[in-house]
Amino acid sequence: MKADDIFGPAERERLQKAISEAELQSSGEIRVHIEDQCKEEVLDHAAFIFNALDMHKTSARNGVLIYMAIIDHKFAIIGDSGINDVVEDNFWESTKNKMKQQFIAGDIIGGLEAGIKEAGERLKKYFPYQSDDIDELSNEISIGNIESE
Ligand code: CA
Ligand code: CA
Repeated sequence: MKADDIFGPAERERLQKAISEAELQSSGEIRVHIEDQCKEEVLDHAAFIFNALDMHKTSARNGVLIYMAIIDHKFAIIGDSGINDVVEDNFWESTKNKMKQQFIAGDIIGGLEAGIKEAGERLKKYFPYQSDDIDELSNEISIGNIESE
């Protein structure tokens, strides 16, 4: 299976909706980026994507990227410095485990959706939703290779 086989308009919309809902829990900005392959260490690559998508451009530095490489069966969750400064080590571990269970069961969209929801709930404690919230980073998922320079 490739990303294009899995992510049709309905699936993209479902995840976008999940992000919009999660961002009503927390001011944290969640993005999902999907590729087919990830040739380097997944956390390093996720950090590269985070920068390439300009995800550091949030006022509280509280962007969160959920990255997944479909063919290579790799995924990662990384947060910006504003999150890392205040949360405990292994903050994302429980979220990753929830996602992994669904991925193993073959439900990629469900796993991503669960991860988005969980990220919103977990960030709420540190970054509650503000009534004057701005959607700082697009809720649309992005798919495809972003080449390293
Ligand atoms: Ca926001
Ligand atoms: Ca957003």
